[in-house]
Amino acid sequence: MKRLAVLGSTGSIGTNVLEVVRQFPDRFRVVGLAAGRNIRLLNEQVREFSPECVSVADQDLVAPLAGLLPASYRHRIVYGNEGNCTVATMAEVDMVVSAVVGSIGLLPTLAAIRAGKDVGLANKETLVMAGRLVMEEVRRHKVRLLPIDSEHSALFQALEAGRSEDVAKLILTASGGPFRNWSLHELASAGPEQALAHPNWSMGRKISIDSATLMNKGLEVIEARWLFDVEPERIEVVVHPQSIVHSLVEYRDGSVVAQMGIPDMRIPIAYALTYPKRLPLNLPRLALSQCRDLSFEQPDLSRFPALRIAFQALAAGGVQPAVLNAANEVAVDAFLRRRIDFLHIAQVVEETLTNVPQENDRDLQVILAADQAARTTAEQAIHSL
Ligand code: NDP
Repeated sequence: MKRLAVLGSTGSIGTNVLEVVRQFPDRFRVVGLAAGRNIRLLNEQVREFSPECVSVADQDLVAPLAGLLPASYRHRIVYGNEGNCTVATMAEVDMVVSAVVGSIGLLPTLAAIRAGKDVGLANKETLVMAGRLVMEEVRRHKVRLLPIDSEHSALFQALEAGRSEDVAKLILTASGGPFRNWSLHELASAGPEQALAHPNWSMGRKISIDSATLMNKGLEVIEARWLFDVEPERIEVVVHPQSIVHSLVEYRDGSVVAQMGIPDMRIPIAYALTYPKRLPLNLPRLALSQCRDLSFEQPDLSRFPALRIAFQALAAGGVQPAVLNAANEVAVDAFLRRRIDFLHIAQVVEETLTNVPQENDRDLQVILAADQAARTTAEQAIHSL
């Protein structure tokens, strides 16, 4: 029986994690849940899974949640960043699933690692912001950091086919998002509803916008660089609209090993939860005879500059990836609130990267300060548009 804490339990990944748990009640027990503001769904989850401890985003949500739950829960509700860290480090927890969205994922994920917990990582922002530091802690505390992102799960599986010294390159696939065939002229007037309509995956709002700009792929390149300790020059992105080949590893003899499957997050989630075992998931199977047109193409960096900017931030190193991430969070939020246009997202991020001073990425406080500076600078860039 594996005891889980799920951070971001009310989100797209979080609900899929609980769906896997529901299918295999004899294998998992949920001992901690943390969510943001959706206390209605959190109430249902607490009643179903009876965790020891539950966290919400803010103190003002504690009383409303307590009002929904049985009296025995009153003293088990915590809140805020400290609440996330409490849930992530409870003695009863064997594995933490980090599935909150954005930079708030970094501190509880780091706390879980330092408390000796294995982590299933969906929150890619953790490695984008502080990949070097997080991986040092993973090694120091001898824990497993298992990828949930489908591309990284695919790379992780394809890497099992060979020795690390024989790896030539990692190839991440990108669906291309809803705007793959849109012209620059059309992109200029793309609105949030269109950007949120991903052709293959149903995901949270922030990652959906990131998929439309291709920033998501940039964040994933940075995540892969740290997770698999591969230099940026050996990571490639290829657009694969069908989302069947989830990523590939090329070895030095020219062999290319791919992982394939239907686009359903329960597959990589279950693999992370039970690695190296696999669960008999009750899902439709990949029907190869119906995959007639698996296609691959170069990403167009002129229409999707966010990917180029992310590669540049990774090459620059230091706090630049953390700055990229924070500026992107601010810009995506502004786009969703219709304060800026779609093409402004990458523009705001690029301007922020030129204006926030470079620092080294070995100190958590320096990284968090760069994140804050980037948020202020990105807001200024939005105002001056
Ligand atoms: P969602 O927006 O669907 O869910 C985000 C979750 O974070 C919700 O449970 C939300 O709670 C919670 N949350 C927000 N603020 C806080 C807070 N202050 N404290 C605690 N919890 C908080 O996002 P996704 O599930 O789509 O994505 C989650 C992460 O997984 C992201 O980093 C994303 O990049 C990554 N990922 C997602 C994939 C997908 O298919 N969705 C695929 C691969 C990676 P509430 O709703 O209650 O406010």
